[in-house]
Amino acid sequence: MGAGAEPHTSTARHGPGDPLGAGGQRPGPGYIGQVARAIAFVGDYNTSAMTYDIAIIGGGIVGLATARALLEKAPALKLVLCEKEAELGTHQTGHNSGVIHSGIYYKPGSFKARQCVEGARLMVEFCEAHAIKYDRCGKVIVATSQEEVPRLKTLYERGTTNGVPGLSMLDAAHVREIEPHVRAVAGIHSPNTAIVDYSEVTAALGRELVASGLTIEYKFPVSAITRVRGGGLAVSTPQHTITANKLINCAGLYSDVIARLAGANTEVQIIPFRGEYYFLRPERESLVRGLIYPVPDPECTLGYSGFWAMARKYWRTGAYEMYRSLSKKKFVEALQGLVPDLKGEDIIRGGAGVRAQAVRADGSLVDDFSIASGPDAIHVVNAPSPGATASLAIGRHVAGLATQTFGLV
Ligand SMILES: Cc1cc2nc3c(=O)[nH]c(=O)nc-3n(C[C@H](O)[C@H](O)[C@H](O)COP(=O)(O)OP(=O)(O)OC[C@H]3O[C@@H](n4cnc5c(N)ncnc54)[C@H](O)[C@@H]3O)c2cc1C
Repeated sequence: MGAGAEPHTSTARHGPGDPLGAGGQRPGPGYIGQVARAIAFVGDYNTSAMTYDIAIIGGGIVGLATARALLEKAPALKLVLCEKEAELGTHQTGHNSGVIHSGIYYKPGSFKARQCVEGARLMVEFCEAHAIKYDRCGKVIVATSQEEVPRLKTLYERGTTNGVPGLSMLDAAHVREIEPHVRAVAGIHSPNTAIVDYSEVTAALGRELVASGLTIEYKFPVSAITRVRGGGLAVSTPQHTITANKLINCAGLYSDVIARLAGANTEVQIIPFRGEYYFLRPERESLVRGLIYPVPDPECTLGYSGFWAMARKYWRTGAYEMYRSLSKKKFVEALQGLVPDLKGEDIIRGGAGVRAQAVRADGSLVDDFSIASGPDAIHVVNAPSPGATASLAIGRHVAGLATQTFGLV
C-alpha cells in the first residue's frame, strides 16, 4: 500500500517516434541465457572517428549503474551511453513505486535474492553519499486469516535465508503497534525497507558519471548494430553512427529487440505490463505509517505461469481485460481487506508505469534477473522489479562479466 500499490496489465510499447517499434513487429522465438552470437553484418564506417571501448545502450538505472561499476573498475575506459530519449531514466526507472526492497520474497540463491539484498545496501550508501533523501519507513507483510500464516512463515524463512537484515515475526498486537489501522492475525516486519525517488538517484548517477568521463548520447535510438570491417561495432540510429569495441545492452523494454539486432539468439520476448498507482489523500495519510503488503496469493500472483501463459496467449485482449478487472473499486476492496477504515475517496490515481517482463516462448515467466554474455556483447535481458533496488549490484555483476568476457583489466 502507500507508494507500493502496483496492479498490472499489458499495454502496447511501440509508441510514436519509436523507430524499433514501427509496425509493432516482434522478434521470433530463439534462445536465452547463454552466449550471444557474434554480431551478424559487416559494414564500412569511417573508423577515423573515436572508437569507444564499450557502448552501453539504455540510460535507465541499470545502464547507469553498469557504467558506474565499469568506471570504478577501469577509470580510463572510453565509455559511451546511448539513450533514445532526451533525458535519463524516463521509462521504468522514472515511473515506479520507489521502494528500496529488502529481498524477502525471492528464491534463495537466485540473482534477485542476492542482488536485491546487496543492491539495497549499496543504494542506501549511494543515497547517503549523494545527500539523496530516502525514507526508511519499514514494511509489514500481513496475514489477514489463519490460513495465510503458514505462507507468512515460509516468507519469513526465505527472507532470513536471503540475509535480509532486521526481519521479525509479529503477532496481531505487534502489527497494530506498527500499523494501528491494519487488520491482521500476524505479520512480518522489515524495518529497513525504504522509499526513494529513483529519478533523483538517476540524476545523481548521471552527474557523477559525466564528471568521471562518461559520454552520453541523448536522442540516440539504436536501430542497427553491425560489425565494422577491421574490428569493432557500429551502433547506429537512422541518422547517426558511433563505433565501439563492445556492447552492453540495458535497454529495458527493448532489451530483446537490441539483443536480436546484435545477433543474439534469444527465445524470450519482453512483454510490457502496465501498473497503475494510487496515492492516499494527504488528509488520510495517518491510515498508513509505512508500507503494507498482503501475503502473496499463489492463486492470482503474476509470478505464476498459468497466468502468464494466459496473458501471453491473449495478451493483446486478455490482459486488457485483466486491467479492466483491476478497477479502482476492486483495488479498494483488496486494500480494505488490510485496512478496513479505508474508503474509495481516500485514494487518488497517481500515474502509471510499464514493466518490462521477459516471457519464454512457452508463455512461462522468466522469474529471475537474466543476463546473457558473449565475446562482443552482454545483454541484461530481464531486470524487472526489484531492478531499481538491485541496480548497483546488477551493475557490479555486469562489470565483472565484462572484465572476464571482454578481457578488461
Ligand atoms: C510500475 C512499476 C513499479 C516498480 N516498482 C519498483 C520498486 O518499487 N522498486 C524496485 O526496485 N523496482 C521497481 N520496479 C522495477 C524497476 O523500475 C526496474 O527494474 C528498473 O527501473 C529497470 O531499469 P532499466 O534501466 O533496466 O530499464 P529502464 O528504466 O526502462 O531503462 C531502459 C532505457 O533504455 C532506453 N532504450 C530502450 N531502447 C533503446 C534504444 N533502441 N536505443 C537507445 N536507448 C534505448 C530507454 O529509453 C530507457 O531509458 C518497478 C517497475 C514498474 C514498471
